[in-house]
Amino acid sequence: MDYFLTEDQLMIQDLARQIAEEKVLPVRAELDEKEEFPRDLMKHFAEADLFRLNIPEAYDGMGLGGFEQALAVEQVSRVCCGVACTYAASGLGAYPLVLFGSEDQKKKYLPQIAAGKLGAFALTESTAGSDAGGIQTRAVLEGDEYVLNGTKQWITNAGEAEIYSVIALTDPSRGPRGASFFIVEKGDPGFSFGKREKKMGIRCSATGELIFNNCRLPADRLISKEGLGFIIAMRTFDKSRPGVGAQAVGLAQGALEAAVEYARTRVQFGHPIISFQAIQHMLADMAASVEAARALVYAAARFIDSGAKEVSKVSAMAKVFPSDVAMKVTTDAVQIFGGSGYMRDYPVEKMMRDAKILQIYEGTNQIQRNVIGQELHKEFGRRSRKK
Ligand SMILES: Cc1cc2nc3c(=O)[nH]c(=O)nc-3n(C[C@H](O)[C@H](O)[C@H](O)COP(=O)(O)OP(=O)(O)OC[C@H]3O[C@@H](n4cnc5c(N)ncnc54)[C@H](O)[C@@H]3O)c2cc1C
Repeated sequence: MDYFLTEDQLMIQDLARQIAEEKVLPVRAELDEKEEFPRDLMKHFAEADLFRLNIPEAYDGMGLGGFEQALAVEQVSRVCCGVACTYAASGLGAYPLVLFGSEDQKKKYLPQIAAGKLGAFALTESTAGSDAGGIQTRAVLEGDEYVLNGTKQWITNAGEAEIYSVIALTDPSRGPRGASFFIVEKGDPGFSFGKREKKMGIRCSATGELIFNNCRLPADRLISKEGLGFIIAMRTFDKSRPGVGAQAVGLAQGALEAAVEYARTRVQFGHPIISFQAIQHMLADMAASVEAARALVYAAARFIDSGAKEVSKVSAMAKVFPSDVAMKVTTDAVQIFGGSGYMRDYPVEKMMRDAKILQIYEGTNQIQRNVIGQELHKEFGRRSRKK
């Protein structure tokens, strides 16, 4: 389908696809098997300027939007969702700075991220998953320094990133208004890394703990003002969730292509299995749902980039629908491969494992449905008050 991409957008899409096929494809199975971080691949991405896409031009970026970022993420995820996750998580870490950073903070950190130093975004703790309000990490102002104590868990790019956006409580008595965001650098005193997780899927991506033990930060590492932590987190997710949708679209596209190819060559009962209507119908449903997911992600990303104000509902839709599609399409791809699909010799086994995370991180799909439901409730409340 033609999404009327500009020449620049087509170039970004082609570049990301080329890197994915030439550099990522040959190593994806090995990285997954060894649970090895794709450090060299990130260097290729940096050389190709892919980390610059949605960093503003004033800070060595290209000043493009979430849509262009989604185009690149989709192409990488078509080949490896773990590598796409590593790349996308750096952008997620940059968003609090892009959206709320001071001029000095942006000047210092954004050119580094644009050049390929990895970022990370740290909210989750053992007591705070879907209920982000359960965070316990504290930040106490002592003179001209903040002192952080606490542990973040399951942070993508933990230990590999150089720049971390971290939310902590500055005033626990104020509930959700008592949280604030900070920039923490790898190497800051009192900042270390704990357990690295062993995962079901996206196994080359690094997921681990951040430990703050009297971690002392200069006061100017506070992003924006004290008390805005959850607003910054929600605004970040509004921007980033179509990116998870783009990971899902790419992954599902990769699985669809693998399934069509296999169905054309696998012969049973004297015919390629694609000649059986049952297989054709599965492929037809897979193709239609991938295209629907892509159309939603592209429309949502373009809508958000237009500067629209009320984007939470659309952003949640652009995460929940594509990720459910990716789970279904990758599962069906394994089914079409039969027993071979269950073997690590074929890529669809990894794709099915990788798909599951897309229904979980950046807010589970239950939480996305809560967001959509609450927004519908608000919208219809406003309409009925106007009548
Ligand atoms: C590989 C990986 C990478 C991650 N990367 C990051 C990262 O970079 N940064 C970061 O901050 N976090 C990260 N996370 C954390 C992730 O965002 C959380 O796991 C996710 O938000 C869900 O929280 P939880 O796992 O604690 O589940 P829980 O909140 O314990 O939920 C358990 C179940 O209950 C359901 N549930 C909970 N509350 C409700 C409700 N109100 N209504 C309906 N259902 C509900 C959930 O949908 C889920 O099915 C990562 C997680 C993983 C696994």
